[in-house]
Amino acid sequence: MHRRPLLGCIADDFTGATDLANNLVRSGMRTVQTIGVPADADALVNADAIVVALKSRTIPADEAVVQSLAALRWLQAQGVAQVYFKYCSTFDSTPAGNIGPVTDALLDALHGPGQGFTIACPAFPDNQRTVFKGHLFVGDVLLSDSGMRHHPLTPMTDANLVRVLQAQTRRRVGLVEQAVVARGAEAIAQRFRDLQAEGVGIAVVDAVGNADLLRIGLALAGMPLVTAGSGIAIGLPQNWQTPGEAADQLPPATGRQAVVSGSCSVATNAQVQHFRAQGGPAFAVNPLDIAAGVDVVGQALDWAAPLLAQGSGPVLVHATAQAESVRAVQAQLGVAEAGALVEHTLSRIAAGLVQAGVRQLVVAGGETSGAVVQALGVTQMAIGPQIDPGVPWTAVQSPLCPGEAVHVALKSGNFGSTDFFAKAFARLCAVAGSEKQPT
Ligand code: ADP
Repeated sequence: MHRRPLLGCIADDFTGATDLANNLVRSGMRTVQTIGVPADADALVNADAIVVALKSRTIPADEAVVQSLAALRWLQAQGVAQVYFKYCSTFDSTPAGNIGPVTDALLDALHGPGQGFTIACPAFPDNQRTVFKGHLFVGDVLLSDSGMRHHPLTPMTDANLVRVLQAQTRRRVGLVEQAVVARGAEAIAQRFRDLQAEGVGIAVVDAVGNADLLRIGLALAGMPLVTAGSGIAIGLPQNWQTPGEAADQLPPATGRQAVVSGSCSVATNAQVQHFRAQGGPAFAVNPLDIAAGVDVVGQALDWAAPLLAQGSGPVLVHATAQAESVRAVQAQLGVAEAGALVEHTLSRIAAGLVQAGVRQLVVAGGETSGAVVQALGVTQMAIGPQIDPGVPWTAVQSPLCPGEAVHVALKSGNFGSTDFFAKAFARLCAVAGSEKQPT
């Protein structure tokens, strides 16, 4: 039976979209994530929540507005009851945008020019992001004292969100303090009404724990637009009667297992080392070979073929390397060139592995994940059970194996425990109804 989606989300980056979808699923909403705005305006999505993943965080503000409005129109055609603009829990943006301009454009579209009211709340206490008296804390320190002050694209040097947002929006920005939030949903809703009567269009809302998120969530019932990090998603599903079945159900997993890793972060290096130390079969991609014209894709797939035929467990193909080796490669090839070369090679290897029968695929690395998802021709992902915080299994369709689901887990660099790869496949096996890898 088709369900009309209740919540339509617009996420300003790819892994942030998955993070939001993961929180929605864990709160009981069946969730589908789309890669960009789907071309087909008429195909209805069968889920409680839809997350449209954009890559609009650091592009020029006017382009971010155009993309976000296209996403809004598509979500409205799906019949969603509430729209959620999702940004980073460290409020990543520049004085020129994009959080303010996108919020203004969405409010204008939903309520009329200069009209309407919404909140801004990047709090995600489970991830050490809290907001108090309008100031954003990362762990024990203000945002402006955290590593975010050195971010290459969006340095955050002011923790006062009212001030930061006011610099980006035409609307007046106000604040709902934690003392009000602590009094419960009705007090919060009353404060929204009071602020709106004073001419405020966007209210930064304090939240220091999950109890605050739940109270705020109740107060957001019926608000056409919510803007937030992924934390607020914890409090919204209680406003709707979603069906009782588990929201993280995916089709049974089949086929062969593989890991493709292009992340060189500390956590991923430890995960690759752990996998190898446990005797897992691994193929290391050397970027200098790719640059020299060696058929690395062919070599990797020839190496994997007999192992996949045996079906004894996951194979790992990785460009993952320690910092000094990455620096040496970058010195020879250039930073961007090395990255693009490796991403292109790994994504072709991932496509080849799927053509060779892999139906359970873990990808490590944010940029690498984007490249792989593109190479597989994925347009939609159904979100399933969580492996580690922020990393769920998903099920996708790929033109490379029409009619068969491929289970994909996209792990951003520093996520996941050291035994993440083994844990991921064990988690999938444990899901009711999954078939064991054929032997
Ligand atoms: P993370 O999530 O850890 O940041 P990404 O996939 O986003 O991982 O980024 C890693 C980047 O490093 C990618 O562009 C990838 O192609 C590149 N890369 C991977 N391995 C190497 C290597 N050995 N030498 C140089 N660059 C590499």
